[in-house]
Amino acid sequence: MELIWQKKSAWSVAQDAQTKQQQLLASARPLQELPFRLRLHYRCDDPRCRGHEQNITDWEVGALYFKLRHAGRDIRTAAEETRDAFERFFGDDYDTWLFVGTLGPAKPTFVVTGLFYPKADRQTRLFN
Ligand SMILES: [Zn+2]
Repeated sequence: MELIWQKKSAWSVAQDAQTKQQQLLASARPLQELPFRLRLHYRCDDPRCRGHEQNITDWEVGALYFKLRHAGRDIRTAAEETRDAFERFFGDDYDTWLFVGTLGPAKPTFVVTGLFYPKADRQTRLFN
């Protein structure tokens, strides 16, 4: 898993418009931009697989990052702790599944939109 620092220009025009629209509502908090992207590198079951790289856009990435920032971590530390927290879901202790989708027809790139990470069932594995 890789942590990539995101340039400020990556904040899209559409996100800016959405933020301004939300600011019109008194109770809504403006969207906050993450200063980084998490990218996942993996190989699928295809024996010819040369590997895949996808951004993780799961909302939990931002939720954890901003929680750590609120708790006083600096930007880099909060980002690295967020990456480390997600990295553990790809270890032996979890049987992680990925929800993968696209950003729509204009952007056919696949991204990881969510993770399901139940604890690995070690007892069942003994009999497989
Ligand atoms: Zn593959």
